[in-house]
Amino acid sequence: MEDLRDKYEVVIGLEVHAQLKTKSKIFAPDGCEFGKEPNSETSPITLGMPGVLPVLNKEAVNMGILTGLALNCEIPERCKFDRKQYFYPDLPKGYQISQYDEPICVNGYLNVKGKRIGITRAHLEEDAGKLVHAGADGLAGSSYSLVDLNRAGTPLLEIVSEPDMRSSEEARNYMEELRNIVRYIGVCDGNLEEGSMRCDANISIMPKGSKEFGTRAEIKNVNSFSALQRAIEYEIDRQIEIVEEGGKVVQETRLWDDNARETKSMRGKEDAHDYRYFPEPDLMPLKISREWVEEIRAKMPELPQAKRERYMSLGLSEYDASVIVEQMGLALFFDEVLKLGASPKIAVNFIMGEIAAYLKETKLEINETKLTPDNLVELISLIEKNTISNNIGKQIIVDMMKDGSKASEIVEKRGLSQISDTGAIKEIAQKVCDANPAQVTAYKNGKVQLLGFFVGQVMKETKGRANPKAVNEILKEILD
Ligand code: ADP
Ligand code: MG
Repeated sequence: MEDLRDKYEVVIGLEVHAQLKTKSKIFAPDGCEFGKEPNSETSPITLGMPGVLPVLNKEAVNMGILTGLALNCEIPERCKFDRKQYFYPDLPKGYQISQYDEPICVNGYLNVKGKRIGITRAHLEEDAGKLVHAGADGLAGSSYSLVDLNRAGTPLLEIVSEPDMRSSEEARNYMEELRNIVRYIGVCDGNLEEGSMRCDANISIMPKGSKEFGTRAEIKNVNSFSALQRAIEYEIDRQIEIVEEGGKVVQETRLWDDNARETKSMRGKEDAHDYRYFPEPDLMPLKISREWVEEIRAKMPELPQAKRERYMSLGLSEYDASVIVEQMGLALFFDEVLKLGASPKIAVNFIMGEIAAYLKETKLEINETKLTPDNLVELISLIEKNTISNNIGKQIIVDMMKDGSKASEIVEKRGLSQISDTGAIKEIAQKVCDANPAQVTAYKNGKVQLLGFFVGQVMKETKGRANPKAVNEILKEILD
């Protein structure tokens, strides 16, 4: 397949649905919290009862504008809502309220790892309910399905990219950055596994150098970043095979099966006219004043790209900066620590080292541990003042995460403060030399690399508390 790949150029555009974290639904007062008893969040509006009217949730609009600004979009002065008709048991009204030709955000872009990806538009719409396929093993073995309408009417922002991506890796990078952004600006959980962020990938191939895009297939049902990449890779090979055999790719919607590692045809792709869009008669077109936009812009928090750049300007490597930004909890914690004036270098070593390892092992978020920014800053200051060694710091940080104790308390209680008193170190160093005459002779005969052995023994004797620099100097004095 590899050399065949060289003949073709891949074109990818993503449609990403982000569930907005509003308290109530986009056109109804019922709550949007995940995990409630099925059909408990279902007002007559959500159920599509006759005679009810939708009322637009202003917070959903605020979040739409904020996201648009974060994605460098224009926010037109006017947008409107439209009905998109289709029949499915999880859609009681028989139509979805969406935005067709006048969306809330247009003409944006995102710079992802040096590549600019255009964003065609982002529009507000309501989510559908959920079908629970009962029976043996989900879809395949179902004899009947249950409908849960709690999710129906949850606000979504659908973010549509230009067909600007040229590899599965670029698509993944774009999706990851989009996820970072919606999380940092607080509009969406960005949880692919739970479906609060969902992605449809449009993929086509064309001969290298061609100006004309090939026919695309749309892949649904990818619920992790790695699945997105796998699905795209599979789909590229499938399309190349069809074209190489003289066939034609058909425009259709395909479902990714991550267990079978393949896509399967789901349905022919609807065209816009199949949905019979028309303006939603129950909602006025929405006027968005420039003052409104500026009010929202003023609330924009620091975006992931700016955060990475700031961390790098503090001396972090690009890798470390990216890893921290990927984990929002850690980044916000790090920011608190920086605000309190701690050395970024030492803080990062703890965060990327012992803290990250502990979080991984316990599957906790940093804010679920008992470590506070103040306590980490105190620990760092003890190291900087040479009260304790870096090694002792590494030993006690886990306890600080577990029980919330302060570094100075642990040091005091366990007598961990660093021994810099040369007299005390000299005594121990002499003891170590006396106990290892063979090594002393070898050292004196030129095996100077044994110095490390002696340092290690002294550290062992002092349980890591001796000041390493002083130990080195004193041992050399004794041995040389
Ligand atoms: P629809 O709403 O019917 O799915 P759109 O025209 O809105 O169609 O496009 C959906 C997505 O498909 C966009 O992200 C766009 O970038 C992408 N796309 C369009 N044409 C192609 C193509 N030939 N190959 C790959 N992606 C494409
Ligand atoms: Mg689509």
